[in-house]
Amino acid sequence: MKNTLRILALSFIMVFSCNSNDDTTSEDEQTVPEEEEVMPGDEETTPDEEEETLMLENVVYNIPVVVNVVYKISPLEETAIESQIQFLNDVFAGKETNMDDVPEQFRAAVAGDIKMRFSLDTILQRQTTRDNFRDDRQEIAKSEFGIPATDTGRKLNIWIVVLAGDSGDATFPGLAPEDLFIEGVYIDRSTVGPRNGIGIRNEGKQLVHEVGHFFNLYHLPGLIEPTSGCEFDDEVEDTPNSAEIHFGRPEPGTSSCGSQDMFMNFMENVHDDTRIMFTKGQKARMRATLVEGGVRASYVESTSIEN
Ligand SMILES: [Zn+2]
Repeated sequence: MKNTLRILALSFIMVFSCNSNDDTTSEDEQTVPEEEEVMPGDEETTPDEEEETLMLENVVYNIPVVVNVVYKISPLEETAIESQIQFLNDVFAGKETNMDDVPEQFRAAVAGDIKMRFSLDTILQRQTTRDNFRDDRQEIAKSEFGIPATDTGRKLNIWIVVLAGDSGDATFPGLAPEDLFIEGVYIDRSTVGPRNGIGIRNEGKQLVHEVGHFFNLYHLPGLIEPTSGCEFDDEVEDTPNSAEIHFGRPEPGTSSCGSQDMFMNFMENVHDDTRIMFTKGQKARMRATLVEGGVRASYVESTSIEN
């Protein structure tokens, strides 16, 4: 599987390609997105601010989701879509991480409830003449072949299609102008789960991974993959830097860059049965996109407070 960060030169959109093979390909040129990391709680100095921070931590962000299924032969059962979105919610509620499966040294970093929820707003299904889609995601969102995004900038559009050679893609924050009709995440139909998926992407975790990208998470080795070395990382403190992204089911204790690799992270490309955790740092980074002024703040439909 290649892991490609692609810049579509004309539209300045960064798309992460998250494949499932072990093949490697060369990397295209990349542009590092400018990011400001707003970490809730970084600056608290007074009781008032501490209270505000506590409130921020308890805010649950509700994000509406539009699922666009582009198919050639048969539409997707709505129950499969609903169970996939339910699974996404379960992961973001911290319900899918079994601490027993997390290596001891990483348990303290487990995110728990990320307090992001995804509500299924609309399902659109449309037949296409295309057998599959390759690198150009714009084809998927063109009305000629697929389904244009609904309410770009306000609703998270998820396209389920047959991707040639890929498991999924996502547009990274800040690089797709808000009015662009391709902004969202793309997953291969075979990955739709949690129990309907097939092969090594059979638990519905590809969507989790792509949603992570959409909300500003990199793969753990950082920006340049698959040969990032140790000089780049994912800009998250509590994910140990690793030299390369992992595939398959790595041996326990696999290490690089002077520490054990957290290959069991959702932002890795290991088998679905091996991807099991987000960290607190990743949680903070995703949520920072949703606070007022954040790069994904426009996607928050409503908030609630949960202690
Ligand atoms: Zn990825």
